[in-house]
Parts: sequence; C-alpha cells; structure tokens
Amino acid sequence: FSTATVIEELITPPVQVTYTQNLINGHFVDAASGKTFPTYDPRTGEVIAHVAEGDEEDVNRAVAAARKAFDEGPWPKMTPYERSRILLRFADLVEKHSGELAALETWDNGKPHEQAAKSELPMLVRLFHYYAGWADKIHGLTVPADGNYHVQTLHEPIGVAGQIIPWNFPLLMFAWKVGPALACGNTIVLKTAEQTPLTALYVAKLFLEAGLPPGVLNIISGFGPTAGAALASHMDVDKIAFTGSTDTGKIVQELAARSNLKSVTLELGGKSPFIIFDDADIDKAVELAHFALFFNQGQCCCAGSRTYVHEHIYDEFVEKAKARAVRRSVGDPFKKGIEQGPQIDSEQFQKVLRYIKCGIESNATLECGGDRIGNKGYFVQPTVFSNVQDDMLIAQDEIFGPVQSILKFKDINDVIRRANATRYGLAAGVFTGSLETANTMMRALRAGTVWINCFDVFDAAIPFGGYKMSGIGREKGIYSLNNYLQVKAVVSPLKNP
Ligand code: ADP
Repeated sequence: FSTATVIEELITPPVQVTYTQNLINGHFVDAASGKTFPTYDPRTGEVIAHVAEGDEEDVNRAVAAARKAFDEGPWPKMTPYERSRILLRFADLVEKHSGELAALETWDNGKPHEQAAKSELPMLVRLFHYYAGWADKIHGLTVPADGNYHVQTLHEPIGVAGQIIPWNFPLLMFAWKVGPALACGNTIVLKTAEQTPLTALYVAKLFLEAGLPPGVLNIISGFGPTAGAALASHMDVDKIAFTGSTDTGKIVQELAARSNLKSVTLELGGKSPFIIFDDADIDKAVELAHFALFFNQGQCCCAGSRTYVHEHIYDEFVEKAKARAVRRSVGDPFKKGIEQGPQIDSEQFQKVLRYIKCGIESNATLECGGDRIGNKGYFVQPTVFSNVQDDMLIAQDEIFGPVQSILKFKDINDVIRRANATRYGLAAGVFTGSLETANTMMRALRAGTVWINCFDVFDAAIPFGGYKMSGIGREKGIYSLNNYLQVKAVVSPLKNP
C-alpha cells in the first residue's frame, strides 16, 4: 500500500480560534447554562477548543432576537438594494479573510486545505454574489382573473427561518442556507453541526462587520437532540431547513408538524449510481468515478457510491480503479498535494470500518485498502470492492467514507432498473460516448441531479436536492428562493363599467 502506514508529523494550523460563543442579537455570549463542549482535530482526536453549548434556552433567546428583527425591522423594511449591498460587502470580507477561513475549516473538519482554499472559499463568495443579485429582483405578478377585480401577488419573506446544517461542508452548507434566506428578507437562527462549529462563528462576525443588523443572523453551537430539536419544534420559527441524514430529517419534519406546521425543506442522504458504458474513454471514467466517490473523504451526500460498469470493460476498469485508489495520497490535510484527510470523528470512522468488514463478510472482493492508517486520528485507507451485488449492505446503505463499490451490468435497461432500485434519489452520474445513451439515461434516472460525463459540479445557479427519501425541495439557484418566500394574493375591485 503506497500511503504511509503512519501519518507523519503534523503541520501546526496557521490560524487561531477567535470565536467560540453563540451569536445572539449581535453579541457573542456564553450558553445560558454556562456549559461548553469540545470540538476536535480529526487528524489527532485532540481538542481544538471548547465551544458554548447551546440548548433550548439559548434557542429561545436567539428566536426572540430573530423575531424582533423581523417584526420590528430594520431587515425586512430595508430596501432590497440595501440588503443586496450588505450581502456583497460580506462576500468581499469573506474573500479578504479566506486564508484564515480555509485553515479553520481544514482544522475543524479535516478536509484538504487546498480544496477548502481553492474551491470551497471561492464558491462561498460566488454564492453570496449570486444571491445578492437576487435580492432586488424578487417581485410578484399581476394576475388576469375573471370578474371586475384587480389582482396582484406579493412575494414576501416567510419570517424567522431555522436552519440546521451538517459537518461535511460547514461553510458551503452555511452559504446554501443563509444566502437565499437573507436575500428574501428573512431573519435566521442557524445551528451548526456539533463536530464543526468554528467557521460559521467566524463568518457571522464578518456579517456584523458588513453591516447586518443585530438579530438578523443568530448562530447556535450545540447538539441535535437538544438545540436542533428545540429549533425544529419552536412555535415562533416559521420555516425550518435541514441538511443531514434521512433518519434525522424524519425527526425534524415530525417536530415541525407537531409544533406549528412550519414549512420544511430537507436535503438528506443518498446512494448515487455512477454508470459507465462500454463506449466511454475508460481512463477518464476511472478518474471521474474515483473523484465521484473519494472526494471529501467520501463524506458527500451525493457521492457516486454505486459504481456500475458495463460487463465488456468491467475487469479492466476494476484493475485501473484499484491502481488509482492505491495511488491516492492520504495524510495531513494541511500538506500540499494531499488528496484525502481524516474522517470527521471517531463515530464516523468506526462506522466506515464496520461497513468495510460487512463488505468482506458478504463476499464482495476487497481489491485494496480495508483498514485504518496509523494509530491516531481518523484516517482510512482508500478502499475498493469489486463483485458487489445490489442486495449487499455496502450497495444499499450510505457509508459516507472512502469505500468504492463496483458493480457489473449487462445493458441499459438492466442498469436503469437497478440504479433506480433504491430508497434514495439525490444524484446520478453517467459516463458514455453516446448522446442517445446520455439522453435516455438522463430521462430515466430518478434523481435530483444527473451529471453526464462530469460529477460534483456545484454552481450557485444549479438547483440541488433529492427525489424520494433524499429530501424535499431544492437549494441553490432560483429554486431556493421559493423556500424563503410566501405568496400573498391581493384582490381589489375595479370601478363598475
Ligand atoms: P450525522 O449522523 O451525519 O451527524 P445528522 O443528521 O445526525 O447527521 O446531523 C445533521 C445535523 O442535524 C447536525 O447539526 C445535528 O446536530 C442535527 N441533529 C441531529 N439530531 C437532531 C434532532 N433530533 N433534531 C434536530 N437536529 C438534529
């Protein structure tokens, strides 16, 4: 195995932790209970910082601040152009501080620093530019109704938005949620994931610097069953947006329904097929399938985690996929050229190793990997299984780790049926040299995104979300605005003719 069996000496992160308290009504404050919890460096399992542990009382205070900022202004009462200017100023500040932010993201999450710095920070800036552009272009319609009436629609913000985000892309998930909500004039209480609380607090400070009025954006660090559940079931929250596992998504929707029937959008798990036909350039297909699965340590809800390969090219593909995985550079994510850092925490690390064991026990062929690397931190060897069957657990469950499962298919009808035979429907990838095959697949696949001869292309304008149990609603693009607006019909009489 080419990756080091022990992770070498670690680089000291080039950043300090400055903000660890909750942000409520424009102030950084301790938790009402005074409690804190640790956030860990996934490279070592050592504590980075202790962070205020938000709970129901902190959520109540944050919601009260967001409620006041919405009901009494100034946020929804500002002109859309004024709101747009604040979003643009914020994006400029993020750009200015992107060095510290990328380092903090890598430290708290374990993702390669080059990925955070060169891809995710620019995407964050781009997304806020995109939604700043929408802020002053939201308007209703004049409706030609029957009868002697003038009818128009007003597109109004919903009110206080609760937002719960996961740990795999802490800053991007912040952006996907906060950008459209603010552009539409809502106020926000956002709960970060307990594994990665640091960067959202940092960017929230930048929002204050950009002139965002107090109470418009409140950030709570804390755990799901306490702070998250308090937010989802709060009577004064008008909308809840959640990204995370399908099981937790169900709980969030139930809490929303049981409390005040707040509207719900969910972005949940996936088991996305990546389908390679025998007319494809095999080397490019190997590289793309590798990227589709291993990107971000395999911790992507849309990971191409079922690699379907046509039987004519199957053996060659497996050999090359294995060789590519063996070449993958795993190590300290702060080091240049590193493609894969550690998994996020001990729980996820153990879960990935359990699925690998389960793959071996179910008689899939372990081509490479299969174990941890070193004896500290949460590094996992890039792992490839061939001869995977649809009914094996590794082909059905979301593993959320660097474990590629390669399956064999016969023809297009066989693979369409099998690709769709899943409870999920987040994304799919197709690799082919034929336009007709690409078009047929694009229509047949039941998934919220179909990437053809590409994968993981995330532009601010492209909607993202799931079919089936992968979620409700779409984020990004024009579609996300609907999540944060409601429509008021206004009807008034005309003078009788
Ligand atoms: P994972 O298992 O990958 O950590 P989760 O879906 O549990 O994914 O977590 C995603 C987000 O949901 C996190 O911010 C987490 O704190 C939150 N969360 C977990 N449980 C609940 C819950 N019962 N109610 C509300 N939010 C929750």
